[in-house]
Amino acid sequence: MTQANGVTARVMGAVRAAARAERMDDALGSDVWKRALAFHGHECRGLAMGVKAVEGALAELGLGCDPRAVSDELTCVAESMTCAVDAVQALLGLTFGRHGIVVRPRGKMAFTFYDRTTGGSVRLCAKARMPVAASIAELLLMPYDELFAVTEPRGPVPSLPPKPGRERCAACGEPTDEDMLRVRSGELLCLDCCAEGDRRR
Ligand SMILES: [Zn+2]
Ligand SMILES: [Zn+2]
Repeated sequence: MTQANGVTARVMGAVRAAARAERMDDALGSDVWKRALAFHGHECRGLAMGVKAVEGALAELGLGCDPRAVSDELTCVAESMTCAVDAVQALLGLTFGRHGIVVRPRGKMAFTFYDRTTGGSVRLCAKARMPVAASIAELLLMPYDELFAVTEPRGPVPSLPPKPGRERCAACGEPTDEDMLRVRSGELLCLDCCAEGDRRR
């Protein structure tokens, strides 16, 4: 390598490093990351994985790249309760309160998205629970399909839970969903009062 070539290579290397640093800054300054962070409350790589799962879901289901354009008919099944779940809630509005997200515990960082409008669905399962050497910015810049295996769903679309009737617990008197009451000696008791009774016995 001539001296001139060596200098050119060094300059090009520096330019590439600067461009990479700029992209990493962009990734951390992006609206999407900021919104996920505002909801979750701390910066972590799990949240970054969640952002990538959302990105993958939007791409695979053909929903465009703006998470706010998502319909009410989208639902998500998460296979563990992790920081990543908060990105799904924050970015897609699929919250627990609206039954937009359901946890089927399988101990995997996997998300299945179902679009009831189109019938489309996709499962994204993390290839490694967390890529060891990657920083948050690096994760955000990685293609989602490098981080997640993209496959067909493994289960049916979850149905909304039925709304049970309510009765008062005979011991504490608190109104309780019927399906959470148990019969003890002919009385309806909530689970906590049942447990207390069992402890006293
Ligand atoms: Zn976290
Ligand atoms: Zn009770």
